[in-house]
Amino acid sequence: MARYGGNTTCIEIRTGDRDLIILDGGSGIYPLAQALMSEVPLVAHIFISHTHWDHIHGLPFFNPLFIPGNEVNIYGGYDVVAQKGIEHALSTQFQYSYFPIREAELKARIRYFTIGAGETVRVGNAKVTPTLMNHPVLNYGYRVECSGKSVFFTGDHEPHWNIYEPDDDEFQEYESLIHQQERSILDGMRDVDLLIADSSYTPEEYEAKKGWGHGTFDSSVRMARLAGVRELFFTHYEPTRTDRALEAVFADVIARYPRECREIGFNLAMEGRVIEL
Ligand SMILES: [Zn+2]
Ligand SMILES: [Zn+2]
Repeated sequence: MARYGGNTTCIEIRTGDRDLIILDGGSGIYPLAQALMSEVPLVAHIFISHTHWDHIHGLPFFNPLFIPGNEVNIYGGYDVVAQKGIEHALSTQFQYSYFPIREAELKARIRYFTIGAGETVRVGNAKVTPTLMNHPVLNYGYRVECSGKSVFFTGDHEPHWNIYEPDDDEFQEYESLIHQQERSILDGMRDVDLLIADSSYTPEEYEAKKGWGHGTFDSSVRMARLAGVRELFFTHYEPTRTDRALEAVFADVIARYPRECREIGFNLAMEGRVIEL
């Protein structure tokens, strides 16, 4: 993955006023931190989709945390398993077993905001709204809107599927719950200019990974079409895929969905790629 990048999820968004919004703190936040050093003191707003390692393990290497005068705001959902707010994402990693520096030694002003689904956060002129997605742990997709432009990032997301058989008593009730949740997700990303979607697998690979909490290229195309998205970026690639294999998978997707590709526009997300809206 030399061309598309081997780092885990981190997306930087700049508003027209240069306000800094960061989606997820995967290992990609480390090269971002290097680039940000010329801007300190700075204010950063980091929104965490969920606390699986690949989305937070870059946080302890976010250099602005160690520099006085910086302000780092971290947002995310309540962890029902640990029964803790989003402060948990950082404090767990700053235990001595995992990292040599204690959280108390961080010099930036750090604030945590545990937010609920649908609760809009204002960052300057931008609005960031979390939507509950489908993953083994609570995972927020984020819609970021500013000056009439919008982006939705899914975090990790698997399309809902009914865990019951059609003749089970629970089937119908579960089916309507699924429809309700799917509607809420589509509403969350409705008409965005850019959708960045978990497209870990091909449909063939997915059969063995059902329930792992990840989507396929095809499920991303479907969501983009139903939500009226303008442009789609596939991301969160299956980690063993080489650049060449990824491009072959992408060519197959274009061949399967020629109309959607023309109407929506398909892209492979790539490390360092800059998109202006
Ligand atoms: Zn995950
Ligand atoms: Zn992930």
